[in-house]
Amino acid sequence: MHVQPGALHAGASTSVRAHSFSWTVVVPGVTFNPNMTRHSLTCLAALILVVSAAAPAQKPPQQAVTQAVLAGTLVDVRSGQVRTHAYILIAGDRVQSIADSAPAGIPVTDLSAYTVLPGLIDAHGHILSNPTTQNFAEHLRTSIPQSTVWGVYNLRLWLDHGFTSVRDACEGPPDYPQFALRESVRRGIILGPRITAAGSCISIAGGHGDGAPFSPDLDLPRGKNVADTVDDIDHVVRRDIKYGADWIKLMATGGVMDPISDFHVQELSEAQMTEAVAVAHRAGKKVMAHAEGAVGIKAAVRAGVDSIEHGTMLDEEGAELMEQHHTWLVPTLYCFQHDMQTGLSKGRDPASFAKGQEIMAAQGPAFKLALAHHIRIVYGTDDADVDEAVSMEFGALVRGGLSTLGALQAATINAATMLGKDQDVGTLEPGRYADIIAVKGDPLADITVMEHVAFVMQGGRIIKDPAHPDRNPVIHIQ
Ligand SMILES: [Zn+2]
Repeated sequence: MHVQPGALHAGASTSVRAHSFSWTVVVPGVTFNPNMTRHSLTCLAALILVVSAAAPAQKPPQQAVTQAVLAGTLVDVRSGQVRTHAYILIAGDRVQSIADSAPAGIPVTDLSAYTVLPGLIDAHGHILSNPTTQNFAEHLRTSIPQSTVWGVYNLRLWLDHGFTSVRDACEGPPDYPQFALRESVRRGIILGPRITAAGSCISIAGGHGDGAPFSPDLDLPRGKNVADTVDDIDHVVRRDIKYGADWIKLMATGGVMDPISDFHVQELSEAQMTEAVAVAHRAGKKVMAHAEGAVGIKAAVRAGVDSIEHGTMLDEEGAELMEQHHTWLVPTLYCFQHDMQTGLSKGRDPASFAKGQEIMAAQGPAFKLALAHHIRIVYGTDDADVDEAVSMEFGALVRGGLSTLGALQAATINAATMLGKDQDVGTLEPGRYADIIAVKGDPLADITVMEHVAFVMQGGRIIKDPAHPDRNPVIHIQ
């Protein structure tokens, strides 16, 4: 399914849109319009009855059930209700229905000792990351083929931890290996979560996404992601879309991991971001904004971005704006917390670490403000060390004040809705992909059970199975 975010975007209320809504009904040979008399409307009603009697509603024939999963406890992430001893009936790669029993003669995967949930969605990953280093210059010594292989490795880890979908939140290489990985997963060439991908990390020169924060005498070529004017941004956004971006990523403020930018300040101008949103939405693409400082958050929200990433210094006015614009928030809380433990041990620049320490004080109050304004929260990890960190955001969200159900929704139905893919993923309702995970224990009582996903199925294919631990083993490097 493809949404047109421009048409759906927040700001215009339904009642406003209703004024410009016009209707016509076409029945073979006759066109009806709003100026018709009551008599002709009665005729229309009669005609519709005749037409529907003649052509009974055509439901697609239900596909035959090919397998079932028996859930000890099944969590409905939409309502928070649980159902015990439920059979998820699967036809091909999709859920056909939820039932109290399974038809005879089909294979049943017995997860009666587990709590079963929809496959998880990480909405802020950087697929190509090397988990062993936080040295900002490392990319100068890493070939793009090597980065791509890191991507293949990381994708397996996401799956192993129950994440059957991921949104890549921008990458450095100008030739977009993330799109190649997305297509390779889609075609089954490699194993990995379903990928939705942003293109380049669009940034001003010297900003958070400027990949060359080095001495001026090096005179490195200007990155293809660098945009200093409105015209520049037109070009960069169109380039990303040309080569396959699903999302556009904007650096609205400075950031933490690079050694030069200031996360307090706005970077891309509001005019640039407004232009980026216009170009992207016209093309049916969505826009995410890295935004930490309060001024840049507000400029990005006013510009109409679909999601704010981090939002670490959100203030009252910004929270009100996000609420009005229905902007999603992907807070990535754990990533910053994890960095405090890692310290300088992975070659991190001390200037970057000092920024990280400062931002920790702002993170908690900003997240509480977001919750008080009922801003919709989406799960995102943003951590290069997928194996270590990808499941830990659940605990961080709950410690930050979100309910356990809210944390589960952030990683399922909310993320799917933000991505415009809620007809495919995010719940275990009929028609969705059979992306199914299982954990021991009750995540609604103790969210940390999500850190130990025991079973993973993607599109009806078992990826991880406690009954067959030798199947699809994943290497965990240090
Ligand atoms: Zn990021």
